[in-house]
Amino acid sequence: MKTLIKNAHIISPDIEIINGAILLEGTTISGVFLEGEKLPNADKNFDAAGKIVAPGFIDVHVHGRSGCDFCDGTPKAISTIANDKLKEGVTSFLGTTLTIAEEQLATAIGCAADYMRNPTGAKIAGIHLEGPFINPKCLGAQNPDFVQLPNIGLVKRLNAIYPVKKVTYAIEMEGALPFTRELIAMGITPSTTHTAACYADYEKVSKLGLKNLSHFCNQMTPLHHRDIGMVGAGLLHDEAFIELICDKLHICPEMIKLVFKVKSSERIQLITDAMRAAGMSDGEYDLGGLNVTVKDGAARLENGALAGSTLLYYHGLKNVREITGKPLTELIKATSWNQTQTLNLGKLGKIEAGFTADIVVLNDDFSPTAVFVDGLQKL
Ligand SMILES: [Zn+2]
Repeated sequence: MKTLIKNAHIISPDIEIINGAILLEGTTISGVFLEGEKLPNADKNFDAAGKIVAPGFIDVHVHGRSGCDFCDGTPKAISTIANDKLKEGVTSFLGTTLTIAEEQLATAIGCAADYMRNPTGAKIAGIHLEGPFINPKCLGAQNPDFVQLPNIGLVKRLNAIYPVKKVTYAIEMEGALPFTRELIAMGITPSTTHTAACYADYEKVSKLGLKNLSHFCNQMTPLHHRDIGMVGAGLLHDEAFIELICDKLHICPEMIKLVFKVKSSERIQLITDAMRAAGMSDGEYDLGGLNVTVKDGAARLENGALAGSTLLYYHGLKNVREITGKPLTELIKATSWNQTQTLNLGKLGKIEAGFTADIVVLNDDFSPTAVFVDGLQKL
């Protein structure tokens, strides 16, 4: 099956083609054409009508959507999240877990494996274990009852059910250094937050190869002039990949501006960290057994702590574009290419021949009007 996307305003990392065309053959992009070039025949033509056509977004930190949480442990929860993420322009995501019991984690990850045998919506590129290996002093909205020390055995058992791509843990906890080495040996990307680590702790794991900071600024040591903490580490270390929740609640607009000023746009990953209230109205919800109230789109525990976001992926891109004014050929790296690089996700994140045909067609406000996954139009 060949599909030709015509009249496309193509935006890909460092590339902009105002009126181009893209040929999708099977699950792959087989050609990109400039204006005026002779176009090949296809089984199906799609007229993008001059709209932005970009690589499908990759959300590497998402707990839930549309009333469902990845950890609900039901096939319905997984398929609802995966199908509805398409409405945000997301074509791949990491199913992100909470600090809960192993049996619950195993059940949820088993449902993800089942879903991927016949995916109907966005693809689950792997699992992101957020916890349970966090610092109990930096819980955020994680459940204290299930916090434990770094335990590679648990990661191995879960990884056997469906591939774990990333583990977020506190690097200062006992056993964190050998744990980091083991993750890297397994091909899993180590990442940190929910941490009280000082900069010296970061230097130690950095030498072992850790270079990811999950939800940057949130639940990590701030920048201080006598210890630059994890925020300082993320800004100082050029190689560090950082996740940003750009809902203007988790991080204020000035911090977003500062991060994009100091960091290369090749090291920033936009994430939602969305919980089940994303795509829903304000009200009462739960997150890993904790009560959450959503008011004006802000999800909070009873103690006031933010409990994930209700951000839709493309809103994050819109916010960043408005706040930084950076060109889309730069910003589009932060919506998929960088994730692919730090997580070894293969041929995702570019509109070039040989890459996977995961593509979004966007309105001026970045809301998607069409989404292609593995070459098939799914929205
Ligand atoms: Zn978190």
